Amino acid sequence: MLKVAITGASGRMGRTLIEAIVASDASELGWATVSPGSSLIGVDAGEMAGQGKSGIYLADGLSSGLDQFDVVIDFTTPEATLNHLESIQGKGKTVIIGTTGFTDEQLDRLKHFAQSTPIVFAANYSVGVTLALQLLRTAARVMGEDSDIEVIEAHHRHKVDAPSGTALRMGEAVAQTLGRDLKACAVYGREGQEGPRSKETIGFATVRAGDIVGEHTVLFASEGERLEITHKASSRQTFARGAIRAALWLQDQPPGLYDMEDVIAQPKP
Ligand code: NAP
Repeated sequence: MLKVAITGASGRMGRTLIEAIVASDASELGWATVSPGSSLIGVDAGEMAGQGKSGIYLADGLSSGLDQFDVVIDFTTPEATLNHLESIQGKGKTVIIGTTGFTDEQLDRLKHFAQSTPIVFAANYSVGVTLALQLLRTAARVMGEDSDIEVIEAHHRHKVDAPSGTALRMGEAVAQTLGRDLKACAVYGREGQEGPRSKETIGFATVRAGDIVGEHTVLFASEGERLEITHKASSRQTFARGAIRAALWLQDQPPGLYDMEDVIAQPKP
Protein backbone atom coordinates (compact mmCIF):
# COMPACT_ATOMS: atom_id res chain seq x y z
CA MET A 1 0.00 0.00 0.00
CA LEU A 2 1.48 3.34 -1.07
CA LYS A 3 1.75 5.78 1.84
CA VAL A 4 0.98 9.33 0.79
CA ALA A 5 1.72 12.72 2.35
CA ILE A 6 -0.64 15.51 1.32
CA THR A 7 0.71 19.07 1.63
CA GLY A 8 -1.75 21.96 1.72
CA ALA A 9 -4.30 19.44 3.03
CA SER A 10 -6.89 22.11 3.88
CA GLY A 11 -6.94 23.60 0.35
CA ARG A 12 -9.52 22.75 -2.33
CA MET A 13 -7.25 20.13 -3.90
CA GLY A 14 -5.85 18.97 -0.55
CA ARG A 15 -9.33 18.03 0.72
CA THR A 16 -10.21 16.40 -2.62
CA LEU A 17 -6.99 14.36 -2.52
CA ILE A 18 -7.76 13.09 0.99
CA GLU A 19 -11.23 12.02 -0.20
CA ALA A 20 -9.69 10.22 -3.20
CA ILE A 21 -7.07 8.45 -1.04
CA VAL A 22 -9.72 7.27 1.41
CA ALA A 23 -11.62 5.79 -1.58
CA SER A 24 -8.50 4.20 -3.13
CA ASP A 25 -7.52 0.54 -2.61
CA ALA A 26 -3.89 1.16 -3.56
CA SER A 27 -2.92 4.11 -1.36
CA GLU A 28 -3.35 5.33 2.20
CA LEU A 29 -2.88 8.64 3.97
CA GLY A 30 0.39 8.66 5.92
CA TRP A 31 0.95 12.35 6.64
CA ALA A 32 -0.79 15.67 5.98
CA THR A 33 0.39 19.27 6.34
CA VAL A 34 -1.07 22.77 6.46
CA SER A 35 0.66 26.16 6.44
CA PRO A 36 2.97 26.82 9.38
CA GLY A 37 0.94 28.77 11.95
CA SER A 38 -2.40 27.41 10.72
CA SER A 39 -5.11 27.01 13.38
CA LEU A 40 -5.74 23.51 11.93
CA ILE A 41 -2.43 22.02 13.15
CA GLY A 42 -3.22 18.96 15.29
CA VAL A 43 -6.72 18.47 13.81
CA ASP A 44 -7.52 15.01 12.35
CA ALA A 45 -6.93 15.27 8.56
CA GLY A 46 -9.79 12.93 7.63
CA GLU A 47 -12.27 14.80 9.79
CA MET A 48 -11.08 18.15 8.42
CA ALA A 49 -11.79 16.85 4.88
CA GLY A 50 -15.23 15.52 5.89
CA GLN A 51 -14.11 11.87 5.53
CA GLY A 52 -14.29 10.72 9.14
CA LYS A 53 -11.46 10.01 11.57
CA SER A 54 -8.14 9.03 9.92
CA GLY A 55 -5.74 9.02 12.88
CA ILE A 56 -3.45 11.35 10.86
CA TYR A 57 -3.10 14.75 12.49
CA LEU A 58 -2.33 17.89 10.48
CA ALA A 59 1.33 18.93 10.87
CA ASP A 60 3.17 22.13 9.93
CA GLY A 61 5.72 20.41 7.67
CA LEU A 62 7.10 17.16 6.24
CA SER A 63 10.35 16.88 8.25
CA SER A 64 8.82 15.37 11.39
CA GLY A 65 6.96 12.63 9.43
CA LEU A 66 9.64 11.30 7.10
CA ASP A 67 9.11 7.65 8.10
CA GLN A 68 5.33 7.93 7.57
CA PHE A 69 5.13 8.28 3.76
CA ASP A 70 6.65 7.19 0.41
CA VAL A 71 5.33 9.97 -1.82
CA VAL A 72 4.34 13.62 -1.41
CA ILE A 73 1.37 14.96 -3.39
CA ASP A 74 1.69 18.73 -3.46
CA PHE A 75 -0.97 21.15 -4.76
CA THR A 76 -0.03 24.37 -2.92
CA THR A 77 1.88 27.47 -4.05
CA PRO A 78 5.20 27.62 -5.95
CA GLU A 79 7.11 28.86 -2.89
CA ALA A 80 5.58 26.20 -0.61
CA THR A 81 6.25 23.45 -3.18
CA LEU A 82 9.95 24.38 -3.37
CA ASN A 83 10.18 24.40 0.44
CA HIS A 84 8.59 20.93 0.52
CA LEU A 85 11.11 19.65 -2.07
CA GLU A 86 13.94 21.02 0.04
CA SER A 87 12.72 19.27 3.18
CA ILE A 88 12.56 15.80 1.56
CA GLN A 89 15.68 16.03 -0.65
CA GLY A 90 17.92 12.96 -0.29
CA LYS A 91 15.33 11.09 1.83
CA GLY A 92 14.28 8.56 -0.83
CA LYS A 93 10.82 10.05 -1.46
CA THR A 94 8.98 10.65 -4.72
CA VAL A 95 6.90 13.76 -5.46
CA ILE A 96 3.77 14.60 -7.45
CA ILE A 97 3.48 18.35 -8.10
CA GLY A 98 0.18 19.90 -9.20
CA THR A 99 0.98 23.49 -8.20
CA THR A 100 0.91 26.00 -11.09
CA GLY A 101 2.21 29.54 -11.57
CA PHE A 102 6.00 28.94 -11.26
CA THR A 103 8.37 31.65 -12.53
CA ASP A 104 11.23 30.59 -14.83
CA GLU A 105 13.65 30.89 -11.91
CA GLN A 106 11.42 28.69 -9.71
CA LEU A 107 11.14 26.15 -12.53
CA ASP A 108 14.94 25.95 -12.73
CA ARG A 109 15.05 25.17 -8.99
CA LEU A 110 12.39 22.49 -9.45
CA LYS A 111 14.41 20.91 -12.29
CA HIS A 112 17.47 20.90 -10.04
CA PHE A 113 15.58 18.86 -7.38
CA ALA A 114 14.51 16.40 -10.10
CA GLN A 115 18.14 15.42 -10.68
CA SER A 116 18.03 13.46 -7.42
CA THR A 117 14.28 12.88 -6.87
CA PRO A 118 11.65 11.23 -9.11
CA ILE A 119 9.07 13.99 -9.75
CA VAL A 120 5.91 14.12 -11.84
CA PHE A 121 5.04 17.74 -12.59
CA ALA A 122 1.88 18.38 -14.60
CA ALA A 123 -0.26 21.48 -14.98
CA ASN A 124 -3.26 19.18 -15.23
CA TYR A 125 -3.62 15.61 -13.91
CA SER A 126 -6.82 14.85 -15.81
CA VAL A 127 -6.40 12.02 -18.30
CA GLY A 128 -8.67 13.93 -20.74
CA VAL A 129 -6.45 17.03 -20.78
CA THR A 130 -3.35 14.86 -21.18
CA LEU A 131 -4.93 13.21 -24.22
CA ALA A 132 -6.02 16.66 -25.49
CA LEU A 133 -2.33 17.69 -25.62
CA GLN A 134 -1.72 14.85 -28.08
CA LEU A 135 -4.78 15.84 -30.15
CA LEU A 136 -3.54 19.44 -30.19
CA ARG A 137 -0.17 18.41 -31.62
CA THR A 138 -1.98 16.54 -34.41
CA ALA A 139 -4.23 19.53 -35.11
CA ALA A 140 -1.26 21.90 -35.10
CA ARG A 141 0.63 19.66 -37.54
CA VAL A 142 -2.29 19.40 -39.96
CA MET A 143 -3.90 22.86 -39.75
CA GLY A 144 -1.63 25.04 -37.61
CA GLU A 145 0.21 26.96 -40.32
CA ASP A 146 -3.04 28.02 -42.02
CA SER A 147 -5.01 28.82 -38.86
CA ASP A 148 -5.38 31.54 -36.28
CA ILE A 149 -4.85 29.77 -32.95
CA GLU A 150 -6.52 30.94 -29.73
CA VAL A 151 -6.61 29.36 -26.25
CA ILE A 152 -9.62 30.21 -24.07
CA GLU A 153 -9.82 29.10 -20.44
CA ALA A 154 -12.30 29.52 -17.57
CA HIS A 155 -11.84 28.84 -13.85
CA HIS A 156 -13.46 29.62 -10.49
CA ARG A 157 -13.16 33.05 -8.90
CA HIS A 158 -10.49 31.96 -6.36
CA LYS A 159 -7.82 30.97 -8.89
CA VAL A 160 -4.75 33.19 -8.43
CA ASP A 161 -2.66 32.67 -11.59
CA ALA A 162 -3.62 33.49 -15.19
CA PRO A 163 -3.64 32.16 -17.82
CA SER A 164 -3.97 28.75 -16.22
CA GLY A 165 -0.97 26.40 -16.22
CA THR A 166 -3.00 24.09 -18.46
CA ALA A 167 -3.70 26.85 -21.01
CA LEU A 168 0.02 27.65 -21.14
CA ARG A 169 0.88 23.94 -21.49
CA MET A 170 -1.60 23.66 -24.38
CA GLY A 171 -0.13 26.77 -26.04
CA GLU A 172 3.35 25.35 -25.57
CA ALA A 173 2.40 22.00 -27.17
CA VAL A 174 1.02 23.82 -30.23
CA ALA A 175 3.93 26.28 -30.45
CA GLN A 176 6.54 23.51 -30.18
CA THR A 177 4.83 21.51 -32.95
CA LEU A 178 4.90 24.58 -35.19
CA GLY A 179 8.52 25.43 -34.33
CA ARG A 180 7.49 28.68 -32.62
CA ASP A 181 8.69 30.08 -29.29
CA LEU A 182 5.60 30.59 -27.11
CA LYS A 183 7.26 33.43 -25.19
CA ALA A 184 7.70 35.33 -28.46
CA CYS A 185 4.34 34.56 -30.09
CA ALA A 186 1.86 34.59 -27.16
CA VAL A 187 -0.65 37.44 -26.88
CA TYR A 188 -2.31 37.68 -23.46
CA GLY A 189 -5.65 39.52 -23.80
CA ARG A 190 -6.38 42.38 -26.18
CA GLU A 191 -7.66 45.91 -25.64
CA GLY A 192 -7.98 49.10 -27.69
CA GLN A 193 -6.70 49.74 -31.22
CA GLU A 194 -4.75 46.50 -31.53
CA GLY A 195 -4.86 46.35 -35.33
CA PRO A 196 -5.31 43.15 -37.36
CA ARG A 197 -4.27 39.86 -35.87
CA SER A 198 -0.81 38.64 -36.78
CA LYS A 199 -0.81 35.10 -38.19
CA GLU A 200 2.09 33.82 -36.09
CA THR A 201 0.56 34.72 -32.73
CA ILE A 202 -1.18 32.39 -30.27
CA GLY A 203 -3.83 34.30 -28.32
CA PHE A 204 -4.93 33.61 -24.73
CA ALA A 205 -8.23 34.67 -23.16
CA THR A 206 -9.11 34.15 -19.49
CA VAL A 207 -12.47 33.93 -17.71
CA ARG A 208 -12.70 33.91 -13.86
CA ALA A 209 -16.19 33.27 -12.51
CA GLY A 210 -18.15 31.42 -9.84
CA ASP A 211 -17.23 27.80 -9.18
CA ILE A 212 -16.04 26.69 -12.64
CA VAL A 213 -13.66 23.76 -12.01
CA GLY A 214 -11.68 24.20 -15.24
CA GLU A 215 -12.54 24.57 -18.94
CA HIS A 216 -10.13 24.88 -21.87
CA THR A 217 -10.74 25.36 -25.59
CA VAL A 218 -8.11 25.66 -28.28
CA LEU A 219 -9.45 26.85 -31.59
CA PHE A 220 -7.84 26.63 -34.99
CA ALA A 221 -9.70 29.05 -37.27
CA SER A 222 -8.99 29.44 -40.98
CA GLU A 223 -10.97 30.76 -43.97
CA GLY A 224 -14.23 28.78 -44.04
CA GLU A 225 -13.76 26.41 -41.11
CA ARG A 226 -12.91 26.20 -37.44
CA LEU A 227 -11.74 23.28 -35.32
CA GLU A 228 -12.25 23.51 -31.56
CA ILE A 229 -10.71 21.10 -29.06
CA THR A 230 -12.43 21.49 -25.71
CA HIS A 231 -11.99 19.89 -22.31
CA LYS A 232 -14.30 20.52 -19.34
CA ALA A 233 -13.56 19.28 -15.83
CA SER A 234 -16.71 18.98 -13.75
CA SER A 235 -15.09 17.73 -10.52
CA ARG A 236 -11.68 18.10 -8.85
CA GLN A 237 -11.79 14.32 -8.33
CA THR A 238 -10.46 13.91 -11.87
CA PHE A 239 -7.24 15.73 -10.86
CA ALA A 240 -6.98 13.81 -7.58
CA ARG A 241 -7.43 10.40 -9.20
CA GLY A 242 -4.88 11.32 -11.90
CA ALA A 243 -2.39 12.42 -9.22
CA ILE A 244 -2.77 9.10 -7.36
CA ARG A 245 -2.32 7.17 -10.63
CA ALA A 246 0.85 9.21 -11.25
CA ALA A 247 2.07 8.49 -7.70
CA LEU A 248 1.68 4.72 -8.18
CA TRP A 249 3.46 4.88 -11.57
CA LEU A 250 6.33 6.98 -10.17
CA GLN A 251 7.37 4.38 -7.60
CA ASP A 252 9.17 2.37 -10.32
CA GLN A 253 10.95 5.31 -11.97
CA PRO A 254 14.51 6.63 -11.49
CA PRO A 255 15.09 10.29 -10.51
CA GLY A 256 13.96 12.72 -13.22
CA LEU A 257 11.22 15.13 -14.20
CA TYR A 258 8.17 13.42 -15.72
CA ASP A 259 4.75 14.64 -16.80
CA MET A 260 1.30 13.11 -17.08
CA GLU A 261 1.96 12.10 -20.69
CA ASP A 262 4.68 9.75 -19.42
CA VAL A 263 2.14 8.29 -16.97
CA ILE A 264 -0.64 7.61 -19.50
CA ALA A 265 1.84 6.18 -22.01
CA GLN A 266 1.68 2.98 -19.93
CA PRO A 267 -1.57 1.06 -19.39
CA LYS A 268 -3.31 1.70 -16.07
CA PRO A 269 -2.16 -0.88 -13.49
P1 NAP B 1 -6.10 26.48 -2.43
O1 NAP B 1 -7.47 26.02 -2.10
O2 NAP B 1 -5.75 27.94 -2.26
O3 NAP B 1 -5.06 25.60 -1.62
C1 NAP B 1 -3.70 25.90 -1.50
C2 NAP B 1 -3.23 25.32 -0.21
O4 NAP B 1 -1.82 25.50 -0.09
C3 NAP B 1 -3.88 26.03 0.99
O5 NAP B 1 -4.50 25.04 1.78
C4 NAP B 1 -2.68 26.64 1.71
O6 NAP B 1 -2.83 26.56 3.11
C5 NAP B 1 -1.58 25.69 1.29
N1 NAP B 1 -0.27 26.27 1.56
C6 NAP B 1 0.22 27.47 1.23
N2 NAP B 1 1.45 27.59 1.73
C7 NAP B 1 1.73 26.42 2.38
C8 NAP B 1 2.84 25.93 3.10
N3 NAP B 1 3.95 26.67 3.23
N4 NAP B 1 2.78 24.69 3.64
C9 NAP B 1 1.68 23.92 3.51
N5 NAP B 1 0.60 24.35 2.83
C10 NAP B 1 0.63 25.59 2.27
O7 NAP B 1 -5.75 26.15 -3.96
P2 NAP B 1 -6.21 24.88 -4.85
O8 NAP B 1 -7.39 25.26 -5.67
O9 NAP B 1 -6.25 23.66 -4.01
O10 NAP B 1 -4.98 24.81 -5.85
C11 NAP B 1 -3.66 24.63 -5.39
C12 NAP B 1 -2.70 24.63 -6.57
O11 NAP B 1 -2.97 23.51 -7.41
C13 NAP B 1 -2.83 25.87 -7.48
O12 NAP B 1 -1.54 26.21 -7.97
C14 NAP B 1 -3.71 25.38 -8.63
O13 NAP B 1 -3.54 26.10 -9.83
C15 NAP B 1 -3.19 23.96 -8.75
N6 NAP B 1 -4.11 23.01 -9.38
C16 NAP B 1 -3.54 22.10 -10.24
C17 NAP B 1 -4.30 21.10 -10.80
C18 NAP B 1 -3.61 20.07 -11.65
O14 NAP B 1 -4.26 19.13 -12.14
N7 NAP B 1 -2.28 20.16 -11.82
C19 NAP B 1 -5.67 21.02 -10.54
C20 NAP B 1 -6.24 21.94 -9.65
C21 NAP B 1 -5.44 22.93 -9.06
P3 NAP B 1 -3.37 27.85 3.94
O15 NAP B 1 -4.74 28.12 3.44
O16 NAP B 1 -3.27 27.36 5.33
O17 NAP B 1 -2.40 28.95 3.60
